[in-house]
Amino acid sequence: MPLIEVTGLHKRYGSRVAVDGVSFTVERGEIFGILGTNGAGKTTTVECLQGLRRADRGAISVLGLDPAADRAALTRRVGVQLQESRLPPKLRVREALELFASFYPDPADVDVLLDQLDLRDHARSYFGKLSGGQKQRVSIALALVGNPELAILDELTTGLDPHARRETWRLVEGVRAAGVTVLLVTHFMDEAERLCDRVAIFDAGRVVATGTPAELRATAGASTLDDAFVSLTRSTL
Ligand code: ATP
Repeated sequence: MPLIEVTGLHKRYGSRVAVDGVSFTVERGEIFGILGTNGAGKTTTVECLQGLRRADRGAISVLGLDPAADRAALTRRVGVQLQESRLPPKLRVREALELFASFYPDPADVDVLLDQLDLRDHARSYFGKLSGGQKQRVSIALALVGNPELAILDELTTGLDPHARRETWRLVEGVRAAGVTVLLVTHFMDEAERLCDRVAIFDAGRVVATGTPAELRATAGASTLDDAFVSLTRSTL
């Protein structure tokens, strides 16, 4: 059984159709990318997967659970990367990790996580005093602290310098190597090309293409995923 199975998902906000019949599957152990134009329905879809929004129509299974009905059970098994602004600035890095660890039945070892994410030297620093890259690493650590089976990472490397981006990619590969399935929402085609086994490209509420980055390049007759994306989607301008 796929780890995530979405079939015919529909979601409107009032008269605006945000998701218009989206279907895709994510297999256990994959790094699966969700790419798409602005306003294509990526965030709405991912919120439905987490049980934060209820679909109007369609079926969703995540880890064999229905997110709308089983949100509490799902929350214990899924790690989500928070947007940095949601953490209080006066919280220290270790305190944040320990606080989040306390929400889970079988959390990761906070010291091991601090080492893995190269945060050991910042364990006592206030979150608000960290650089953008350090904050990003904390947000990834928080997504992993519950020992999740699925990690949902959004805007993984936004605001990071090229060194930090590569470091973060290696980290995500390490997370997958440890057996965690990764759902990555990204606007960066180089990131998707480097990390994702398969991607789904969203455009105007629909999935317009699914496959490996190489398959999508071949389908579009393009030499880069960036070119394939542009040829498979419509401009939102
Ligand atoms: P982006 O890449 O720009 O972040 P996205 O693919 O994540 O976009 P969504 O945020 O899911 O897209 O939005 C899909 C559509 O639904 C957009 O037209 C957006 O304006 C609309 N929308 C999203 N959230 C709401 C809301 N709470 N109320 C009304 N409309 C919304």
